[in-house]
This record gives sequence, C-alpha cells and structure tokens, in this order.
Amino acid sequence: YSLYNFTGDPKLEHAEWASRIDMMNSWFTDMRRKNRFLYERQSQNGSKVLTKVKDPDTGEIREMLNFASNDYLNMTQNPEIWGRIQRESVKYGSGGAGGVPLLSGSMDIIEKLQIKIAEMKGMQSSIVYSSGYGANYGTISALIGKKDIAIYDMFAHASLIDGSRGSNKKFFQHNSPESLEKVLKSVQNDYINKLVILDGVYSMDGDIARLPEILDVAHFYGAWVLVDEAHATGVIGENGKGTLSHFNLEGKVDIVTGTLSKAVGSVGGYVTGSEKLINYLKYTSRSYMFSTSPFIPSVIASLQALELITDNKAPIDALWKNIHYVKKRLQDAGFDIGNAETAIFPIIIGDDVLVKEMTYRLHEKNIFVNPVPYPAVPRKLTRVRLSITAGFTKEQLKYTMDTIVEIGKELKIIS
Ligand code: PMP
Repeated sequence: YSLYNFTGDPKLEHAEWASRIDMMNSWFTDMRRKNRFLYERQSQNGSKVLTKVKDPDTGEIREMLNFASNDYLNMTQNPEIWGRIQRESVKYGSGGAGGVPLLSGSMDIIEKLQIKIAEMKGMQSSIVYSSGYGANYGTISALIGKKDIAIYDMFAHASLIDGSRGSNKKFFQHNSPESLEKVLKSVQNDYINKLVILDGVYSMDGDIARLPEILDVAHFYGAWVLVDEAHATGVIGENGKGTLSHFNLEGKVDIVTGTLSKAVGSVGGYVTGSEKLINYLKYTSRSYMFSTSPFIPSVIASLQALELITDNKAPIDALWKNIHYVKKRLQDAGFDIGNAETAIFPIIIGDDVLVKEMTYRLHEKNIFVNPVPYPAVPRKLTRVRLSITAGFTKEQLKYTMDTIVEIGKELKIIS
C-alpha cells in the first residue's frame, strides 16, 4: 500500500515479506546483470543541472541532465554559499561539533540556524538534527507513548512511519480528509493523544496535502498535527516558506519538520513548534540527544541558503517556470502524471518492464531519471520519476520532453 511503509510494518505476514524481498532482489539482480542502472556519479561538474556519471558498461565518463536530484533551487552549486562556508568555517576547525547538542555540541552558528528556521516557518522555536530522517524519527518516537496513537496519510515518508515502530498507528487514505475522519472517529475514546502525520508535498507524487481540510478534521477530533516540509520548503508558499504559508495557515499546525537536504542544498533536519514542545524534544528525542550536532559547514550552508531563499524570489520563479513547462508537455502528450503540482513528476506506467525500459532509454539519451518499481509503489502505480530544478534551460527541457514523448510513443505508453 504505502509508497514507503513496506519497509516497516510489523503486521505483515511472513509470506508477504518474503515475496516483497524476492521482488526487490529480482530488481537488483536484473539491474546488475544488465549493468545498466549502476551509474556512479562522479561530480556535478560545476553545473547546476548536469551530472557526470561513469557508464557501468564502458567505464566512460558521461555527462547527463540530472532529473534525479531534489536540489530544486540548485543551491548546491551556489557560489554565495561556498563563499560563506570558506569565510566562516575556519572558525570551527574541521567542522566536527565534538559532542552531542546538550553537552559540548551546541554552537552559535547552530543557534542562528535554529532561529532562522523557526522564523521562516512562523513558529516559536526549533532544533536541528543531523538528518531529516533523524528529525522525523526522533520527534514521533518521543511523542507517541503507550496510550497515544500516530495516524498517517498512507503515502507519508518512511522516516515518519518508522517513528512509531512498535507503537499504536493507523493509516488514512492518501490526502483524504473523509478517510481521516473515519479513522479519528474509530479511535476517538481509545487514546490520550492522537497525532495526525502527513507530508506537505508528497515525495513520489508531487501533490500538495489538502492541509486546510485535514486540519479542520484533526482539530475537530482533538488531534495534534505534524507536517513534514521536506519537498515543500523552497518550492511552495511565499518565498518558499512551505505548505503552511501556501495555505495561509502559519501558526495553525502544532509540529513542522523538514530536511535541509533538498531545496536547501545541504544536509540536516529540523523540527519547529512551540517553545514547550521543542524543550520537551531536547530532553526526550533520542536521535537529537545522543547524536553529535550537525557538521558545521553544512550548518553554514543551510543558513546561507535559507537567507537566499527567503530574500530572493528569482530562483523560485525560475523553478516554477520550468514546472509549468514540464507539466504542460507531459499532460499534452497524454502521460498519466497523477495529481503532480510541484517539482516532482511521476510518469505513471503501471508495468515494471516498461518502467525499466523507459529508464534505460532515457539514460541512453543522457537524461538521468529514477525508476520507481513495485514494491516501492503499488504495481499499478509503478513509474519513472523526474524532479525539476530551477537551473534547466528551456532548450534542455524541450530536448528532454521531446525525448520522453518519443520514447513514450515507441513503448506505446502514450499514443
Ligand atoms: N521526509 C521526506 C518526505 C523525504 O523525502 C526525506 C528524504 N528522503 C526525508 C524526510 C529524510 O530527509 P534526510 O534525507 O535529510 O534524512
């Protein structure tokens, strides 16, 4: 069912597990035999959108258009960010924080980043983790006790689902407030705290959460709400502030989490909320308490990127111009792109053989995309996934779209 939670559901029957593992194994064996997917990325080559990869067959280094990166605003290649890392990181030596945040690991630059994140998200306070995975996992596992329940959108990210391993949990249909209401009704009197958990923008489908309706239902039933802003930050909302800003709901969500590894172009994760909540997490969230503070150059990079994102609309405007072009071309050609409305585009094919074949052929044309087979998604929803970044030129996108349409016709995915 869920895109990601096949990795974590302890209720799965043994046979189901075995068949899923077989499936994954056959995918990877097939890839290895054909040796066609295992490109090793060599560098970004100083370009925003090109990546150098080593051809697994010939060993030759090839340059491809990179549609497999979540660096939506191309911040990884931004000279203002490198400049600031060079200027400021000398103060911090090798960049290792030397300890966990509560002991020797906290530093002024980390504090600055936390203030910036809380301000951007319209929240009182925030803490940063070394990864988005750790932020989600550590927050949910600290909050969901024996008498509480986590209630997930069924497409929520694995890091969110893993946070309630061994705890009470239920799922609602993807992006359906009606289904959420049914679940909340069914558990109304059974738990002390109910936490509704969703992504702001979904990582495999690129659709935006129906946050206003979901919030109404959750609040009616007295549930808390957590939104993961991994793919929304830097993409939607005023100056890329994310889903809450997109819907004018700043201050209405209890917990906002996210990663610094996508549009922010760095690495690390964060949680924002009330001062009370953040204080609670500081002393209970184990992936925060027992893990060394983030690498300092990445903290500097995150801070500079967030300043660039919130102060400057040009990269976000460029991203949206590209998103509109790609969406129109894919829709006009007749591809099924689900409800994609942000920088992520699934080309839903529903046939593993065709998904692989389309991916191979795109790689041959130097277009780097990721296939998403079963069981990562249900069989009828297997897809090729593209993510769009701001730095693509019109010509590069036109070449890519023309090629996708041509291959789509050859493989009879479209007519
Ligand atoms: N949430 C979502 C929705 C994600 O897509 C990801 C990244 N794969 C994460 C959380 C985890 O972030 P990180 O890669 O920083 O651990």
